[in-house]
Amino acid sequence: MSTNRSNDRCSFTFADGRHCRTPRQTDHPYLCSFHARKEAQALAGQEAGKDIAYHLSGSYVSACDLSSALGRLFAAVAQGQVKPKTASTLSGPNPRTNPAPSPK
Ligand SMILES: [Zn+2]
Repeated sequence: MSTNRSNDRCSFTFADGRHCRTPRQTDHPYLCSFHARKEAQALAGQEAGKDIAYHLSGSYVSACDLSSALGRLFAAVAQGQVKPKTASTLSGPNPRTNPAPSPK
C-alpha cells in the first residue's frame, strides 16, 4: 500500500466531490495528463478572451479593432481554445440561427 498517494495521483475534484484516481502526469505538479490538458485549454481560452476584450474595450471600436478581435477569435477557435458555438455567438447575429428582431 502506497503511503504517498496524494503525491502520485491527480488532485482534480469533480463537482460531486469525487477525486480523479488517474496517476499524476510526471511533469505536472498535481494533475493527470487529461486534466492538465483541460486546464491548459481553459487557461488559453481565458487568455484569448482577454486579448479579444482588449480590442473591444475602448469607447470607440474602429474597423481595425474589430478586425483584430475577430482574427484573434478565429485563431482561438482553430486552436481549440474557444468552442465554435461560442465564437458564432460572439461574432454577431446569424440570420439562420439568431435572426434580428423584426420592427413592429
Ligand atoms: Zn485527473
